[in-house]
Amino acid sequence: MTKRIFRAMALTSVIALFACILFVIAVLFNYFNTQVINELESSAAYIAEGIEENGIEYLRNLEVHSKRITYVSAEGTVLFDNTVTDVSQMDNHLNREEISEAIKNGSGKSTRASETLTERTIYHAVRLSDGSVLRISDTESSTSVIIAGITQPILLIGAVIFIISAIVSSQISKAITEPLNNLDVTHPDKEMLYDELKPLIKKLNEQNATIDRQISDLKRKQTEFDTITKNMSEGFIIIDSFRNILSFNPAAPRLLGSETGKEYRYVSNLTDNETVLEGVNSALSGNHFEAKFFRGETCCQIIASPVNNEVVTVGAIILILDISEKNQRETMRQEFTANVSHELKTPLTSISGFAELMMNGMVKQSDITDISATIYKESRRLITLVNDIIKISELDSRSSYETEELDLYDLCDEAVTVLEDAAERKGVSVELEGTRTKINGVKQIVFEMIYNICDNAIKYNKENGSVKIELSEADGRANVSVKDTGIGIPYDHQNRVFERFYRVDKSHSKQTGGTGLGLSIVKHGALFHDADIHLESTPNVGTEITISFKKA
Ligand code: ADP
Repeated sequence: MTKRIFRAMALTSVIALFACILFVIAVLFNYFNTQVINELESSAAYIAEGIEENGIEYLRNLEVHSKRITYVSAEGTVLFDNTVTDVSQMDNHLNREEISEAIKNGSGKSTRASETLTERTIYHAVRLSDGSVLRISDTESSTSVIIAGITQPILLIGAVIFIISAIVSSQISKAITEPLNNLDVTHPDKEMLYDELKPLIKKLNEQNATIDRQISDLKRKQTEFDTITKNMSEGFIIIDSFRNILSFNPAAPRLLGSETGKEYRYVSNLTDNETVLEGVNSALSGNHFEAKFFRGETCCQIIASPVNNEVVTVGAIILILDISEKNQRETMRQEFTANVSHELKTPLTSISGFAELMMNGMVKQSDITDISATIYKESRRLITLVNDIIKISELDSRSSYETEELDLYDLCDEAVTVLEDAAERKGVSVELEGTRTKINGVKQIVFEMIYNICDNAIKYNKENGSVKIELSEADGRANVSVKDTGIGIPYDHQNRVFERFYRVDKSHSKQTGGTGLGLSIVKHGALFHDADIHLESTPNVGTEITISFKKA
């Protein structure tokens, strides 16, 4: 812009300068012409006076070389010409414009192009008293010579003026564009600017406000998006069609076993997991992809979906979910079903076998009582098993139970009463001591939990052993501890006894009527009540199981 302004100003100066020079030359040319004519007139008047007084002799004695002097009779015959020696050879001058005019009016003037020269000649003629005519002429070339003489200094002055105007133009154009160059487009109001720019400034202000609004909108959305994705447990990755990662959340590298807090440019930098790369390829080919993969103990699911712009796939969104728990639950369910079928099959086979023998009359009358007792025992076992399965299923499905304030001491006392006979049969003494402590819970479940650990403490005790139930309170918790002097649990089994159908010694457990679900019910009940279980056991010495509830 500075250059354009400079060029325009410089051009204007040059044109103005040339116009001035031409005008000055024209004025000077005119001035010098007038001067020449005036000079011719005064010379003519002066010489005419000389001729009037001294006749033609005056002309002969006159020494004038710069001008042509012609003296013509009233008839047009040339009597004298200072440029011609033999005037008799000259033609009649009566037809000369200036001479005929002078004869007519007293003076005459004309300008003619010279026949021999390219210059123009100015003629001035005056009529004398006897009717003769004196003519003086001069060439215009003399004017041109004078003008040519002054043209050079004028051009020199013009050149100086041009240089000065170029410098001034440059300074002015810089001064004009400086406020524009220094314009702060983000705060245009603060600048002192030209009035012509006010509509532009207004527009800029409006646009700035719109841009600011849009940026803050985008920032808010970005923050929302970041907050949501940052706290997502699912990993997600957005990629373009060249496998460049456009966005990913911290859960993605964590689930893929890569370093978190690092920048990853390509999916291949983030993971080399074949299933994930297969998912990426599939999604970029326009197909939805779902698969499961393991990373150590963790089971993950990948869902890769293409992002389509009309018919072209421009990228993909990859979701990675930790489904370890779901997977584990599924496995457990499968195992549970298999275990249940197995557990049910054994007593049923026994019942069915004995019933068949009796049906076919193959049992002696004397054995019928024993066989009926076995059938009864097996069916009782089946009922206990089915009851336990129902309890576990209810806890699993988190059926809606009504909670109430419970006195743990009362529940323990009730369990001791129910188990009195069993303890007596085994010669085990049961002791209950401690404080009355209250919790909020479901009576049926809490009773079941206490009953199961007390039942185990008696079942797996030694002859004449003892069971001590102790209630205590500490740090806002209500603790029930059941300690026995029984056979104990081998160390390598201690982690597993809470699993469904897990029994340390299957035959012993069966003999004592165990289903392998007792501690599993305890564990589920604890989960339901947000309670902690602690197990301490020394083989052949005894076991202590403590359940710690939150106090009411
Ligand atoms: P079960 O119906 O067989 O008793 P549980 O789930 O109640 O099933 O217990 C699982 C296993 O843990 C039992 O089979 C037994 O081997 C062991 N166990 C549980 N409680 C005790 C205990 N107090 N002393 C020794 N072993 C125990």
